[in-house]
Amino acid sequence: MKILVINAGSSSIKYQLLNMDTETLMAAGIVERIGDIQGVLSHKKYTDGDEQKTVIERRIDDHKQGMHLLIEMITSSETGVISSTGEIDAIGHRVVQGGESFSRASLIDAPIKAAIEKNNPLAPLHNPANLTGIEVAQQLFGDTPNVAVFDTEFHQTMEPKAYLYALPYEFYQELKIRRYGFHGTSHKYVAKNVAAEMGKNPEEVNVITVHLGNGGSITAVSKGRCVDTSMGMTPLAGIMMGSRCGDIDPAIIGYIVQEKSLSYQEVDAILNKESGLKGICGMNDMRDIHESAAQGNQRAKLAVDMFTYRVKKYIGAYFAALGRVDAVAFTAGIGENDDIVRAAVCEDMSGLGMQIDPEANHGRISTRKKISAESSSVQIWVIPTNEELQIAQDTMAIVKDM
Ligand code: AMP
Repeated sequence: MKILVINAGSSSIKYQLLNMDTETLMAAGIVERIGDIQGVLSHKKYTDGDEQKTVIERRIDDHKQGMHLLIEMITSSETGVISSTGEIDAIGHRVVQGGESFSRASLIDAPIKAAIEKNNPLAPLHNPANLTGIEVAQQLFGDTPNVAVFDTEFHQTMEPKAYLYALPYEFYQELKIRRYGFHGTSHKYVAKNVAAEMGKNPEEVNVITVHLGNGGSITAVSKGRCVDTSMGMTPLAGIMMGSRCGDIDPAIIGYIVQEKSLSYQEVDAILNKESGLKGICGMNDMRDIHESAAQGNQRAKLAVDMFTYRVKKYIGAYFAALGRVDAVAFTAGIGENDDIVRAAVCEDMSGLGMQIDPEANHGRISTRKKISAESSSVQIWVIPTNEELQIAQDTMAIVKDM
């Protein structure tokens, strides 16, 4: 079975074509700067371990043209891996916000599209773009089934005590203000696969999944089900991120508006794009920050200290939420590649049963690996995430019996 995974943004379309019989990547790419004077498509074709890259620069008017271009790429004799789109069995679409309507992936029809659209106010930058990707795919791929996989669906198992904010209850009833959580496909993939590495079923273990990328979130997973997660109604909440502030005292916003004479929109942009690691030391890439800290930049060192301290506190909180923890699993750009961050997060956590093995933790880790010491009662793992594979698996589960 061949599944095309689509992640449509407001001016981009990311794609991966996967052969699900072997769970291997056939082609992947991104169409960017849709609507700009010059658009760009970067495409990679994978054959027997070989990678062939093609870059095309030209104007791309809209998502429909972008999708045409990616179809051309995956089907042409030069860059392609299939002879026609008819070989694609299904398309899995990443949809950011499923609200309370979706606790699992869904085959897309008119009522499902309407339900996604209803959640647009909760993700005004993402959901409309995701819907455009769905519309265009439906126009260009004929009868091929389309499936929506939601970033929020894995977190729908949280109980009200975890997902409600202590605001007037009507705000939840009228406006659906609550914690939704994001990165759900990543947390689901990592929780399932760390259990597999431990020789257990997901239902047998409690794990804390630690997704540290440019955006980051931490999730408490009990017996395969999310019980709490650090992101909130939006991805701004939780740990400190590349350029997002994470948890702050909400009263700070009004204070900045007043003292700096800024509009709410301006403050919102600062909290999303100028805060986090970038706000503290001017850089948001952890590699640059470590380099600068090593050269004596105190702000860079402070940024790393703040980042790892906050991750540590969330892990501690989720020990309390779960009662018993069998494993902590790191993933994403920083979680997989950054031994300094992993070591700092796990430092002095032996009181909770976590002890890292410095040798096993050393360096970048690109395959699943246990990094805890034998004496550690809680296992610590690095599990490289694969959100596209998870979307393809969820898509396949829906279409395989059709
Ligand atoms: P992601 O959002 O998962 O793609 O992660 C992106 C982030 O991973 C970047 O902003 C970097 O800070 C971080 N990253 C990637 N490679 C490394 C590395 N070798 N060491 C430290 N951080 C890294």
